[in-house]
Amino acid sequence: MSPLDLDSRLRTIVGAGAKRLETARGFTTVRDMLDFLPRTYLDPARPTAFSHLPHGEDVVVVGTVRSATTRTMRTRRGRILVVDLEDDSGGGTLQLTFFKPFGHQDRLVPGARVVASGQIGTYGRQLQLTHPDYAVLDAGKGSTSGGWLLGGLVPVYPATPKLSPIVHGDLLDLVLHALTELPDPLPEEVRTEHGLPGLLEAYRLVHRPQTTAEHRRGRWRLKFQEAFVIQAALAQARLASDAVPAVPREPVEGGLVDALLERLPFELTHGQHVVLGELRSDLARPVPMHRLLQGEVGSGKTVLALLAMLAVVDAGGQAALLAPTEVLAAQHHRAITAMLGPIAEGGMLGGMEGGTRVALLTGSQSAAERRANLLAAASGEAGIVVGTHALIQEHVQLAELGLVVVDEQHRFGVEQRDALRAKADAAPHVLVMTATPIPRTVAMTVYGDMTTSTLRELPRGRQPITTHVVTGDKPRWLERTWQRVAEEARGGGQVYVVCPRIGEEDDPDLPGADTVGPGGPTAPGQPGQPGGGADERPGAQGSTGPGEGEEVGQAGEGPQLHGVHQVARALRALPSTAALRIEVLHGRMSGEEKDAVMRAFAAGAVDVLVSTTVIEVGVDVADATTMVVLDADRFGISQLHQLRGRVGRGGRPGLCLLVTQGGSGEPGAVERLDQVASTTDGFELARLDLETRREGDVLGASQSGGRSGLRFLRLARDEELIVAAHEAAWATVEADPDLAGHPALRRELARLDAERAAFLERG
Ligand code: ADP
Ligand code: MG
Repeated sequence: MSPLDLDSRLRTIVGAGAKRLETARGFTTVRDMLDFLPRTYLDPARPTAFSHLPHGEDVVVVGTVRSATTRTMRTRRGRILVVDLEDDSGGGTLQLTFFKPFGHQDRLVPGARVVASGQIGTYGRQLQLTHPDYAVLDAGKGSTSGGWLLGGLVPVYPATPKLSPIVHGDLLDLVLHALTELPDPLPEEVRTEHGLPGLLEAYRLVHRPQTTAEHRRGRWRLKFQEAFVIQAALAQARLASDAVPAVPREPVEGGLVDALLERLPFELTHGQHVVLGELRSDLARPVPMHRLLQGEVGSGKTVLALLAMLAVVDAGGQAALLAPTEVLAAQHHRAITAMLGPIAEGGMLGGMEGGTRVALLTGSQSAAERRANLLAAASGEAGIVVGTHALIQEHVQLAELGLVVVDEQHRFGVEQRDALRAKADAAPHVLVMTATPIPRTVAMTVYGDMTTSTLRELPRGRQPITTHVVTGDKPRWLERTWQRVAEEARGGGQVYVVCPRIGEEDDPDLPGADTVGPGGPTAPGQPGQPGGGADERPGAQGSTGPGEGEEVGQAGEGPQLHGVHQVARALRALPSTAALRIEVLHGRMSGEEKDAVMRAFAAGAVDVLVSTTVIEVGVDVADATTMVVLDADRFGISQLHQLRGRVGRGGRPGLCLLVTQGGSGEPGAVERLDQVASTTDGFELARLDLETRREGDVLGASQSGGRSGLRFLRLARDEELIVAAHEAAWATVEADPDLAGHPALRRELARLDAERAAFLERG
């Protein structure tokens, strides 16, 4: 018989119990069982005084039976067994009650030591457990159950009504005893260097610790391994992509890069110069660049991307710029064309000699327009091609694709990168830009196969943004908000009003349209649509992606969230704002419509733009001075920070008002708004965001390379560990790229791949 390992079926070890584990917990393998870690530990040496047991919670308690009585019930037929259990401090009793005494009364005799678990209830003032699971610990009647509870700490697992914790513990015991060793993915020298226990030892420490130090040590090791495996995968991916040659793009004197630098109406900041140097030297190498450029909105990433693209064009290649939405693609196209001026009019009258062309490819173009652009791209006449991410899924031929710039990573997954690579003969260089400041642990875990550049300073002349939180229980303030909007607009400023949902054109009016907002339509009038109507989509809390995720889900009760149509209609009716030019923008409009509205807003022909978060990333309107975010508590910290980066981009200071109906969101939601209002440091906010978000949100499905989430690691807390695992893993992979000497690690990596593939298949 081959030795047991993590992939062994539970049924080969625990027999009939396997069925229960599968039904109750979904466990089928040893790994499933062992990776399910205790939620906490009880210390029998320091027992919980029963008087402090939390009502309604699932508990595991240890105590001694003081008395047990069976009596006839008054209110219904039958007999009841009442057992008084005393805690070890002698200070409190807990009643165990059984409506069918049979079988229990012989075992629960005075003096018996008992472990019991169940949900704490009360009867009168007496705490009790009704029909608890229990085990008698004293050797007494030859009980085999619950023996693992003796000595050491008592592990407590997340509860399920379908499986008694005592049975769970008994089955786990069988598994732990059946295993004699486990292949260890961590190389021995790494374990030695970091003082880590072996894998099986770690599981024993976590599930059967004698002391707190022991389970911490076990858990540390499991986290280390998780980080190590991810890092090893990233290191391998990086080595693999380094192994595919790219065409080196040497800088060209007096080329288009120089022409643009001369043309720019400003000097690059020091930070921009540094990054430009990094980009140019990466591009000149025969291995593909994989660089992540992060910098706040307005820090000047786009200019750098353009210079990098021109460097590639100078060297005979083409570059593609991919944006997450059509609005952004169109904006990039406009901005780039304007910045380039005659440089982008190659071959045209008045254009620069040796200049190039910029093609735009979007889904909403007319067939003729599209054909012309496709032709320009395919012939190589257009050195730069701008489009949405869809560009790479389509059959777009690029004659000589040398660089792909991806604006806003959020929606850009591994598989898309692969698709891109497949479009060129040699691997293109890749530059990813993101405006979301990324905490170090996330960068290492999610973008660990890339080199990171960061723009920390904003170009001079950027104006400060002031942020205020407006709570809905102060209607006066809200009135003031709309007056302020009107004042801004009259003074030549432009205003964004951001709503969490689109809504329908015939959504009910906001009551008292003279105070749009809080105190808005309440649920009782519309019992049929608690979720905010037909357009509700799963919550995008913390998501920063536009498009599909533009709407925020409404969780259960609470005031209905503001819809774009509703708010626009109300503003058009409100005396102070009625005279303003108000438009709406959201993802259900066609690309053409959206683009037309954005153009009008950018040209100053619209005063107030009521929209969803489609405006979130990258949109640049110099005269936008004010942003009002309605139901701001529904948005994540980083998302709000990005949103407000839209204002104050011209010569005038920005104002951001975060409006909340208060208390309707999840706990801590309003505190988050105060945090956003208190600082403009994006890195600090990203760190806060990380602490309040679930790991799955942080990684996002595609960003984590398909992994649906982390098992043990906490990116907000485990920085030291992740850094150590990163170094160890990269060293291991560099020394042995195929991991020929590390079969167990290789198997873990294959598992990661399989998980990713399964994930992608599910969509
Ligand atoms: P990002 O892409 O990082 O949001 P952009 O590249 O769009 O930032 O730059 C924001 C604005 O600042 C643009 O209008 C751009 O022309 C301008 N800009 C970029 N770099 C500088 C600079 N060094 N000095 C002054 N203005 C700059
Ligand atoms: Mg930008």
